Amino acid sequence: MRFASVLTVVLACAAVAPVARASAGGTGFHPDRVEIDRAVQAADEYWRNDPQNTCLGRNRGSVDASFPERHAEAAAYTRQGECGTIHVLLSRARAYARWQLCTLVVHEYGHTIDYVHVEDPTDIMYFKPVTAGLHPKVCDYPDQHFWLRPEGVDQTSWR
Ligand SMILES: [Zn+2]
Repeated sequence: MRFASVLTVVLACAAVAPVARASAGGTGFHPDRVEIDRAVQAADEYWRNDPQNTCLGRNRGSVDASFPERHAEAAAYTRQGECGTIHVLLSRARAYARWQLCTLVVHEYGHTIDYVHVEDPTDIMYFKPVTAGLHPKVCDYPDQHFWLRPEGVDQTSWR
């Protein structure tokens, strides 16, 4: 019985995650823990002065090989209004450029500080921000080690 349930889980994961492909163009972009941390940092910057931001400096994300079934069709999911709950699907992230992963994380971060979807395709909380071509300036960093913000240092020139 136990073996059977384990097998079911494995099959479910295989169905959820398409075969991974290298990112287009040989950009050397490989979404991992460091990349997601860097994207969350960019999102911190994006939402820094938002009066609703209760997650500043406390948010986190992960890149997951598979998602729970209820999120199987999503590129990412988050628990609404809860810091540290950003999840990005690995196979989707691999298809993105760095700034696109960042855009998605900025959007998911919005959910963690309790923003919901809007109809406006120019708003970061549009339900498909990457598809809509949204591109926050905070996501224009060349690699994951670029500009790791020390708290309190003025980085406005970077924007
Ligand atoms: Zn969303």
